[in-house]
Amino acid sequence: MKILVATEKPFSREATEGIEAIAREAGFACELLEKYTSVDELKRAVADADALIVRSDKVTAEVIEAARALKIVVRAGAGYDNLDLGACTARGIVAMNTPGQNSNAVAELAVSMMIFMARNQFTPGTGHEISGKRLGIHAYGNVGRIVARYGRALGMEVSAFDPFVTDPEVFARDGVRMVTSVRELYENSDYLSLHIPATAETKGSIGYDLLMSMPEGATLVNTARKEVIDEAGLARALAERSGLKYVTDIAPDSAAELAEKFGKRFFATPKKMGAETAEANVNAGLAAARQIVAFFKEGVTRFQVNR
Ligand code: NAD
Repeated sequence: MKILVATEKPFSREATEGIEAIAREAGFACELLEKYTSVDELKRAVADADALIVRSDKVTAEVIEAARALKIVVRAGAGYDNLDLGACTARGIVAMNTPGQNSNAVAELAVSMMIFMARNQFTPGTGHEISGKRLGIHAYGNVGRIVARYGRALGMEVSAFDPFVTDPEVFARDGVRMVTSVRELYENSDYLSLHIPATAETKGSIGYDLLMSMPEGATLVNTARKEVIDEAGLARALAERSGLKYVTDIAPDSAAELAEKFGKRFFATPKKMGAETAEANVNAGLAAARQIVAFFKEGVTRFQVNR
């Protein structure tokens, strides 16, 4: 049984050592393919692998086609839009993510981004405090719930919307106001933290109308995915609303243009860094390895995303 860990952007040494130890204990072989530079390298390495662990690496139909022995692929992380689920399903390959393992890292980044923007990107001048402001959480999943908790701890009034979390008790016990429409959430948020996955339904769904409905001086914080933003609508709203701010962990295609036009009202991290903490790296990597062992030894498919 061979597990291939294929990472263009490698895990930390602590994480790979942990993955190797879990594999060894289970009696599986473990091979690392790090910093590879071509799809062909990945295709060669995966040809005889029974299991594959990736980070943001693209597992396309072409890669699946080359992976003749593959039974399971695990994306060490939350978003799994880098996996071709259709190709996996067609070959009977189980695809999983490792939900929750990097949520705290992403939530801390989201909170720090709010303060960074409230304080003029840490440049001289009078800024704002986030305490007492209204925080809207768009999607109440693993990351959104932690951001809500931190927002409350910082004295913010927190509201949230998630069409798939319909039990008011879930929000009530967190001290969060439940909102039943996207529009209502945006209209009442000085800070809006985005945590929706990139799906056919959500791609391009955050655009001009929603942004224009936000209060004067509002900040949109995106640690989710760039694809959920309608970039043309964003640029138009930033041009028309002189107080609107946008901060993101996933640089838009038009980042250079937005930075030039909107100065301190726009910021994008140079490279996605939400999950880039030593802790998240280890948590997600080890969870992926454990899920693979549990799958082969006990048939556990709890985190399968292509059912
Ligand atoms: P999660 O799966 O725990 O939560 C996602 C939530 O979105 C769920 O509660 C779901 O009900 C909700 N949702 C689904 N479709 C929706 C819709 N149309 N409208 C509103 N809500 C909807 O995921 P998570 O761990 O909280 O992560 C959220 C997103 O953040 C991921 O999908 C991923 O793309 C992104 N992410 C980014 C980084 C980073 O490095 N910046 C790291 C991890 C995750």
